[in-house]
Amino acid sequence: MKKLFFDMDGVLVDFQSGIDKLSDDVKKEYEGRLDEVPGIFSLMEPMPGAIEAVNTLSEHYDMYILSTAPWKNTTAYSDKLAWLTHHFGDLFKKRVMITHCKNLCDGDYLINDRAKNGASEFPGEWIQFGSERYPDWEEVTRYLISETFFHDEDDEKINSRKVTHLLVEQTINTLDAYMEVLNAQCDTEFADELKERILNLSRLTNKWLDVSGEQSETEYYDI
Ligand SMILES: [Mg+2]
Repeated sequence: MKKLFFDMDGVLVDFQSGIDKLSDDVKKEYEGRLDEVPGIFSLMEPMPGAIEAVNTLSEHYDMYILSTAPWKNTTAYSDKLAWLTHHFGDLFKKRVMITHCKNLCDGDYLINDRAKNGASEFPGEWIQFGSERYPDWEEVTRYLISETFFHDEDDEKINSRKVTHLLVEQTINTLDAYMEVLNAQCDTEFADELKERILNLSRLTNKWLDVSGEQSETEYYDI
């Protein structure tokens, strides 16, 4: 199984929901540094779809938390652990890394909203939550499930997966939409990295077309 890391604030956790529960006096006292309010991390609600997504992905990935706690908020570490246990039970037990240096953790995927604290230099693939490509949990889950098709060494395993017709159709539509975005980018730049992404996307789309049972060769990318 591939290693998947989750950021917390702005990814699993709705930071604003915690702020909304603070009194006006506390908000004023901690203005500009609300993440330092004692206990604020225990007040936050999950992001929409986060719980379901984590549960779905847990069947396909080796999962860890990779989060940062504000340096000056001494209860943030324990609040975060309590939050995880409250929402996920033992799913992340002894699988939590709290650090300002996410780039030093070795994994395959990191779902993180911001580039800060080493996220943009993560050695695996950084999935930027909230970006145009990955706006919400629905898209992130769809992408990560489609990625698992590349993780298996033989195609027989793919056929044994429980893949619904709807999921296949939605995934192919998503991949097509992403290809359009990349093609539009090609009008302004044609860097090697972009070329590589287009190639990978073409392979992935072809694989999903195989799964869908597509017969027409014209639907496939010529690689
Ligand atoms: Mg974050």
